[in-house]
Amino acid sequence: MHERDPKDSSLYVLMEDLDGADAARVLSHGVSSITIGAAYHRARDVTPHGRTRVTLRHDGVHFPLDGPFDGLRLVPPVQKGAAREPVRVLREQTRQMGAALHGWGVFLHNTTLGLAFPDVTQENCFGDRAAPADLCPSHPDVRAYAVALARAIARQGVDSVVAESLHFGTFGHGYHHERSFVDLGPAAEFALGLCFCDHCRTRVPHAEAARAAALRLTAPVLEGGPPPERLPDVLTDYARAREPVVTSLAARVADAVAAEGSRLTFLDLTGAMKGYTDGRATGAPAAEEGWRIGVDPTTLAAVVPSYAILCYARETARVIEDVTAYRTALGPEIPLRAVLRPGLPDTTSADHLAAKATAARARGATTVDYYAYGLVPLPILDRIPRTVLAAPSG
Ligand SMILES: [Zn+2]
Ligand SMILES: [Zn+2]
Repeated sequence: MHERDPKDSSLYVLMEDLDGADAARVLSHGVSSITIGAAYHRARDVTPHGRTRVTLRHDGVHFPLDGPFDGLRLVPPVQKGAAREPVRVLREQTRQMGAALHGWGVFLHNTTLGLAFPDVTQENCFGDRAAPADLCPSHPDVRAYAVALARAIARQGVDSVVAESLHFGTFGHGYHHERSFVDLGPAAEFALGLCFCDHCRTRVPHAEAARAAALRLTAPVLEGGPPPERLPDVLTDYARAREPVVTSLAARVADAVAAEGSRLTFLDLTGAMKGYTDGRATGAPAAEEGWRIGVDPTTLAAVVPSYAILCYARETARVIEDVTAYRTALGPEIPLRAVLRPGLPDTTSADHLAAKATAARARGATTVDYYAYGLVPLPILDRIPRTVLAAPSG
């Protein structure tokens, strides 16, 4: 069935960047499916060909709420226009064109919910609740929220649910206007992003020792000392020990999505942590650094039916390195979707993009997707290599 074809090449699209009869327009850019942001988070984006040229986005879902959130404490805000059911409209358009539609959700990154319910957000080693955007995956209410959100997106009739931020957050992106006039260095910055809330302390072994180590590492630099040179083993061990929290949550979410007749794609953000700003990812391949956000590709591959990675890199060699490492970690079976950015800051030409797409497929990516429709000028979208759309299978 074409709708389950893992080889469909998809373009990520944010709802605000659409304008009605859009599926045909999006698909005209060479892709065979659409990955629509059904639940997103706040941002201010330059949108070169959008309805607005600079677009404000908000936390929340682009569909009316029903069943899955009944009785839950955490309920997502509902976005303006949701009553018109834009995801279902796109579903109908794509179905008529024989194209897949994937429903993409930002899960545990939601400033509105975090500000309303600080107790579900990550708590740093000093006891501060200062990352309102980062809902802690150890918290039972957050886990129930993630399952409900996945169910709700699946019920929009999408072929798959693409789950972004279904893991721990990091210090550098816990709010949306962040300042530091302290040179923390990477080790102290990482330590400040670790959560030590009651639920993490219950679920994750050796949390007290790790918290003490995080305090010892970060307090001196805040007092004017030099940034610490390295992360002590007790903190890397603690960070890694959080992986079962994420894997078990992903398993629950995958089961819920399957129960709704769709399937989960786990979107691993590690590649963005390394290359988001400038495309100059360095150091170990992303597959080996997922532990920073509690992500272990190998155990996740056993519980989710599909996996997506962000190849935010300029160099084709880096794309090759990352895809190869993920394929090794994930094993040979699971569909692997590699996401490329067709323009800034990663890609300079159509040939450059084609080289990276070809290399990703050659090294084990099942499919190549592109990010994102509304964020780049139309001539940049024209760089996307043509994918032949599967004929509707009646
Ligand atoms: Zn954010
Ligand atoms: Zn926590």
